[in-house]
Amino acid sequence: MLFRSRQSTHLTYTMTATANGHAGKRKADDITLDEVDGFSAAQLFGKGVCYTYDDVIFHPGHIDFGAPEVELTTKLTRNISIRTPIVSSPMDTVTESDMAIAMASVGGAGFLHYNMTQEEQVAHLKVVKAHRLGYVTRPEVRGPDATLAECDALATSRGFTSVVVTDTGIVGGKLLGLVSSRDGDLAMDRSTKLKDVMTKAADLVTGKASQDIDTLEDILLKSKKGKLPVVNDKGELVGLMTRASVKSKKLLPPPGAPSLDKKGRLLCGAAIGTRPADKERAKALAAEGMDMVILDSSQGDSVYQIEMIKWLKTNVPELDVIGGNVVTQLQAKRLLEAGADALRVGMGSGSICTTQEVCAVGRGQATAVYKCSNLAAQFGVPIIADGGIQNSGHITKALTLGASVAMCGSMFAGTTEAPGEYFYDNGVRVKKYRGMGSLDAMAKGSDTRYLSESGHLKVAQGVSGTVKDKGPVMKMVPYLTHGVKQGFQDMGAKSMEHATELRNNGSMRMETRTGAAQKEGGVHDMHSYKKVAW
Ligand code: GDP
Ligand code: 5GP
Repeated sequence: MLFRSRQSTHLTYTMTATANGHAGKRKADDITLDEVDGFSAAQLFGKGVCYTYDDVIFHPGHIDFGAPEVELTTKLTRNISIRTPIVSSPMDTVTESDMAIAMASVGGAGFLHYNMTQEEQVAHLKVVKAHRLGYVTRPEVRGPDATLAECDALATSRGFTSVVVTDTGIVGGKLLGLVSSRDGDLAMDRSTKLKDVMTKAADLVTGKASQDIDTLEDILLKSKKGKLPVVNDKGELVGLMTRASVKSKKLLPPPGAPSLDKKGRLLCGAAIGTRPADKERAKALAAEGMDMVILDSSQGDSVYQIEMIKWLKTNVPELDVIGGNVVTQLQAKRLLEAGADALRVGMGSGSICTTQEVCAVGRGQATAVYKCSNLAAQFGVPIIADGGIQNSGHITKALTLGASVAMCGSMFAGTTEAPGEYFYDNGVRVKKYRGMGSLDAMAKGSDTRYLSESGHLKVAQGVSGTVKDKGPVMKMVPYLTHGVKQGFQDMGAKSMEHATELRNNGSMRMETRTGAAQKEGGVHDMHSYKKVAW
């Protein structure tokens, strides 16, 4: 007989038999073999077929809790935990400082891409680490001798006209004043210096760094001014708040607890390669407080990566190292034995990726996640499901199949915080999104990820195109997370640990879907409809 474990809120299946071969008297919550349908993960993924997320569907479980109670706190690496199990991919159309700030602010994390010089990447990291929650990102600051012409250039490049003036021209300098559009718009001579038109510090409403964000927001709103420079006890600028950013924040869903490092700064990772020069890059990034590093490769099981992991663990031990990408247990084992603190799993599943077509290697992403996470669990190391995520259901599937975190590229491309400018394509507002193995990206230098050597022929393993404007990621992630919580609730899983328990003891049941079942699982038979997710 199969019976329900009394310790667990869910079902655990154990065969028992009485001495005479007959089952004992049936209790109210006992279930019998023919009442159990579907398959356990071990059964489903042991059939010699690889599946994608859409192939698999989970059976509902028993609910005795509310979706908001679901706890999604998870391990991103061996030593780093985050509250929201979602991170942004190190791609040059997805993660630079704005995205990394937004992702850490909503409890996830961002990984800076490395299709740029070491200096540029370090500069992005510095912006993330200097950012204080509630302040604007990259406040524009100039020295007293800068000119109105520079303000005009700013209006074109970043869309605003006011700048804060400090003695050094950067954050941290002594606050001297502020130039808004109204201070300088009547000056015919655009070479006029800012010190000659600025509103002086003594006449400005300012906030104190020791005041909390709510108090500062209150001061700003009550002052009826557009900007609130925030200074420390020495009168040095520590940040800027603006009326518009406070107002737009109020339209966003609550962001939840941010991801912070030990010094209270926003958590941030970055990608590097496995070339000798990348060792210097890793050291430079670590010196600026990078928390974890991704070794960015589409096929991570290489001597280069194994050597790099070992080198980093010996020479920059404060960094957690994320190896990958891998899709098989053997690949995972080699990188784990070398000392990886997390693994990135996925090959050929990315939306912009043509690896499976071009190179005939890869694996269905649901199978890759399940197999690699099983192996990594033996080492106590989390895995990141990377690529192929199109909705909150895919994130739920990745997490319940064993990933600790889901990594998104296309989902976050086209958001306000993604690099690049919006433009119109046939009347639709879009941003560029491209694979790091596209010819376009490789021309800028990302070819090392695809093991192309300069001077050799380059064959693309990705495409370049556009995605629609998706609004702020700060809005998207809280809704996605809530969608995942609802999925966990439907499955009867209260937390990441609980989902692991249900998967491992076989009580989480699942099946594959036929093409027709997948079609039925989407919207169908409508004359017209608009899909509004939140
Ligand atoms: P206005 O004179 O009040 O219209 O303000 P601006 O033209 O200076 O600013 C317009 C927009 O840019 C507002 O959304 C501000 O929040 C934003 N903004 C202004 N200054 C900065 C800054 O230094 N950094 C950032 N990131 N945003 C700013
Ligand atoms: P997406 O979330 O768009 O489905 O997938 C993003 C992931 O695809 C990235 O995190 C990265 O692992 C992978 N990727 C990025 N660019 C390329 C590419 O040009 N080719 C391949 N094969 N994979 C890519």
